[in-house]
Amino acid sequence: MAGGTDELGVRLKVYEGQPAAVSGVGRDPVNLPMIRHWCEATGDTNPAYEGPDAIAPPTMLQAWTMGGLSGHGGRTGAYDELMALLDEAGCTSVVATDCEQEYLKPLRPGDEVVFDTVIESVSERKRTKLGTGYFVTTRTDVRVGDDLAGTHRFRILKYAPSARPSAAKARRPRPVVNRDNVGFWEGVAEGRLLIQRCADCGTLRHPWLPGCNACGSLDWDTVESAGEGTVYSYVVMHHPPFPAFAPPYAVGLIELAEGVRMVSNVVGVPYDKVRIGLPVRVEFRRYEDEEGALTLPVFRSVDTLGGLGGLGGLDSLDGLGGLGGEV
Ligand code: ZN
Repeated sequence: MAGGTDELGVRLKVYEGQPAAVSGVGRDPVNLPMIRHWCEATGDTNPAYEGPDAIAPPTMLQAWTMGGLSGHGGRTGAYDELMALLDEAGCTSVVATDCEQEYLKPLRPGDEVVFDTVIESVSERKRTKLGTGYFVTTRTDVRVGDDLAGTHRFRILKYAPSARPSAAKARRPRPVVNRDNVGFWEGVAEGRLLIQRCADCGTLRHPWLPGCNACGSLDWDTVESAGEGTVYSYVVMHHPPFPAFAPPYAVGLIELAEGVRMVSNVVGVPYDKVRIGLPVRVEFRRYEDEEGALTLPVFRSVDTLGGLGGLGGLDSLDGLGGLGGEV
């Protein structure tokens, strides 16, 4: 789709500057009950939003223009036409991407809000991870009488969803590594299973969190798990299918000897032989695919360790996939 003339893009550009809503009227005047609900929901205790001289939180700007279930008043056909053009072109999916607001004048209880919405811009065709499509930005000017109280820009991506990867090419999902849990994954990379420990009360925790659930302390260190545990609970996944994994497979909740629990694979045992109480030991397994290498802690049934007899023979089957309880 890249390159060449974009006939659809040219047709979409025509809508730039066209009104999407004209002379919309707020369903209710700015009012204290809505302000109070908003402040409670957001935990905003600013005294400016209370009492006889209260103003509305500026971030409520859009709330005063919302149409509720019955829809917006003053809506024109242009926006619907634009969306229909995109739908016809296969851009059937939509995601809101961002919102920008500008505040010019405080709104106060009793203010009657009117608004106009214009289709401010339609982007060039863009290729995104979600799919290829167009960003559509609308701008709503919110007024009280002739005074502009604020503007609200709302941007969506209307796109044709990318084709799903086939099972053969599907990559194993990557863990989401963030500032809170990076230490855990650094440990995994070194072949160590690290458990967070509260530096104040000593409570162990997993998954990794910024603070202690027991005492609220933000100070912590780690202890290295010996890697021994048992299956505390498990499920066998049959449906829905995920491209990277072939069902059925068992997902285990492992209780480590140290007391914390973590979700992982149970390997070395058929999915239908996983049982609550099954003794397991951690194993750091390396995966390779086109996205690169990935190391994950998995838990191997201890019954299968060090023996060719009994379940030990399943190790080789595990390597072929399907029996390993791969998640
Ligand atoms: Zn604590």
